Amino acid sequence: MTSIVEVKDLTKHYPIRRGILRRTVGHVKAVDGISFSLNKGETLGLVGESGCGKTTAGRCLMRILEATAGSVLFGDAGTDILTLNRKQMRPFRARMQMIFQDPNSSLNPRMTVGDIVGEPLKVNRLCSGSELEERVSALIRSVGLRSADARRYPHAFSGGQRQRIGIARALSLHPDLIVADEAVSALDVSVQAQILNLLAELRETFGLTYIFIAHDLSVVKHISDRVAVMYLGRIVEMSMTSSLFSNPMHPYTEALISAVPVADPNIHSRRTRIRLAGDVPNPVNPPSGCHFHPRCNYATDVCRTEVPSLRKQGFGLVACHRSEELDLSGV
Ligand code: SF4
Repeated sequence: MTSIVEVKDLTKHYPIRRGILRRTVGHVKAVDGISFSLNKGETLGLVGESGCGKTTAGRCLMRILEATAGSVLFGDAGTDILTLNRKQMRPFRARMQMIFQDPNSSLNPRMTVGDIVGEPLKVNRLCSGSELEERVSALIRSVGLRSADARRYPHAFSGGQRQRIGIARALSLHPDLIVADEAVSALDVSVQAQILNLLAELRETFGLTYIFIAHDLSVVKHISDRVAVMYLGRIVEMSMTSSLFSNPMHPYTEALISAVPVADPNIHSRRTRIRLAGDVPNPVNPPSGCHFHPRCNYATDVCRTEVPSLRKQGFGLVACHRSEELDLSGV
């Protein structure tokens, strides 16, 4: 398989400045050296609690935020897009699009749906007149809306329909990669399923590659080929989705899976939900050793002093000193 994106040691640290001279007294390590690659047509789920750095990682990858260090090699030529200037970046911007949690933030209420979806085509001078109308109409239909909806305004649509409009706009420039940031989190469960199905269909139709960012593992379960679990700016486990759910290797993944509802009430009632103590620690002053140790039921002395590296185990990668001796498969 050909890789479309290769992320190496992506880092985003925010300086903390104090005093009249605004001296740097520390850093918030929002993303602390993450690496992964993504094949064409693949979907990677990026999950973790709020504040784990997943959204920041997605934004750095798209260059909506500037990374502190690392590289993002994109396309067949493996161009490091983090080194490109504005002009050089322009063709790559069209190939990478983002879908946001709140479609309202990207939908101008004073523009019709047709103008919203067609705007990127106009701005990039790709077409005009009747050709533009036809392409907009095809895009609107591809996300399950009617051509006539092009004349209506965003307020006339439900949350799920507005997300469809955002998706049609994101598709307008024929992107290779779509980063969906909590794209279904604000929707009802039944509407979530419809949008997830739509995204899966569009992946087949347009040959798309997705990074699917979500705090909820149940959302990424059905759409992702692989899942990367983030905790305090680092990837702690990455595996094929089926293997991650049947045989988690990291205690944090185990806890996240235990919170995923199971359709079978018999299995659900036998299951014990692992409640994590406290919130995600402050990234300004993360715990020593394994960042997860204050909340981990399996922590020992080594966990408090030594940082576990992300290494290969089974079919995936895991960062835990005790992963080889723990059997977390019964969750
Ligand atoms: Fe828990 Fe230790 Fe593994 Fe961290 S390294 S997840 S504290 S067992």
